[in-house]
Amino acid sequence: MTTGRISFSRPYPALREMKNLRAALDSGHLHGDGPFTKAATTKLRHITSAPHVLLTTSCTHALELSCILLDLGPGDEVIVPSFAFTSAATAVTLRGATCVFVDIDPDTGNVDPSAVADAITHRTRAVIVMHYGGVAADMAPLLYLADVHGFHLIEDNAHGLGGAWQDRPLGTIGTFGTQSFHDTKNIHCGEGGALLLSDDILAERAEIIREKGTDRARFLRGLVDKYSWWDHGSSYLPSELNAAVLDAQLDEFATIQAERHRVWSAYASAFSDWADRRGVRRMTVPPDREHTAHLYYLRMPDEARRDALITDLAEQGIVAPFHYVPLDTSPAGLKYGRTPEPCSRSAEFASTLIRLPLWPTLTDDQIGRVVDAVTGHSW
Ligand SMILES: *Cc1c(COP(=O)(O)O)cnc(C)c1O
Repeated sequence: MTTGRISFSRPYPALREMKNLRAALDSGHLHGDGPFTKAATTKLRHITSAPHVLLTTSCTHALELSCILLDLGPGDEVIVPSFAFTSAATAVTLRGATCVFVDIDPDTGNVDPSAVADAITHRTRAVIVMHYGGVAADMAPLLYLADVHGFHLIEDNAHGLGGAWQDRPLGTIGTFGTQSFHDTKNIHCGEGGALLLSDDILAERAEIIREKGTDRARFLRGLVDKYSWWDHGSSYLPSELNAAVLDAQLDEFATIQAERHRVWSAYASAFSDWADRRGVRRMTVPPDREHTAHLYYLRMPDEARRDALITDLAEQGIVAPFHYVPLDTSPAGLKYGRTPEPCSRSAEFASTLIRLPLWPTLTDDQIGRVVDAVTGHSW
């Protein structure tokens, strides 16, 4: 059995990364929207079935782009789960709109549709739905509420590329889907992201906002003979260097996912009896959802025992961190948000959760070491 540090996450080394990077550098075309952007975009369209895919510089920027597309402004409200990454909140507050924080469903860590229903006002413009760990949120009631009340769903699908809810690909169920290619995600290019859209008119406008407010994309397609300033905008397109790595990663999407599921399933079976005996709650996946093996977590009986396990594993060279700190009670959440009901399930979820090392080239020996360290921990 090997010893040595087991990191929490490790970017997958895709075969063609160096070859693609060399080709991009040799081509002299390094700014965005070149051949590697086109190739990677096609692969993402294939994986997600999204009619429109726009590569972005990050998932954070794809969320910001969604909020610009909704013309959010002061007085508007967006419902955000308390247990989520900060980008969901900052995309809203950057526009001067208000985050309304709601509680989660402790079985999945995802937004609780009944908490959403209770938080709706005439100012509600959107709900940001994060699929935690690549396990889909309970979409049916959210789609119903969005339809009845006329607001939009923004799927923060940073964890969920290739996942599904009732056979519908994650990221394509709401008006917007946002992906992350940060190097801790299943597919990466260092830093990067994508916006998925099905609406043609929104997609056309997104293309303009992404390119500094100009119709440069139409110009590149030969549809106009010069490009000009049309709308709000920023620079949300990644360079060809990022796209070159992303394209190499996407070539091996099936392998990466299969290896991640190998690790996930090994944990799931290794901990089943032990967890039940010790009152530890395991990550679960409802039957109508295909998850993405983005992460594997356990929920300890309380915060003290969770912290003790993190420390014990660290002493054995195993990096197993907690995750999001609830947004509603964070300093900026108190300043820029409104929390109609205390988010106690989110607080409990966040304070008991521990994530285990999960990456495609984690060996069976290393998985064994993690399992032994967790089940051998005494409390
Ligand atoms: C990583 C992550 C983000 C941010 O992604 P970037 O590409 O780093 O901007 C947003 N939401 C969730 C759920 C994430 O895990």
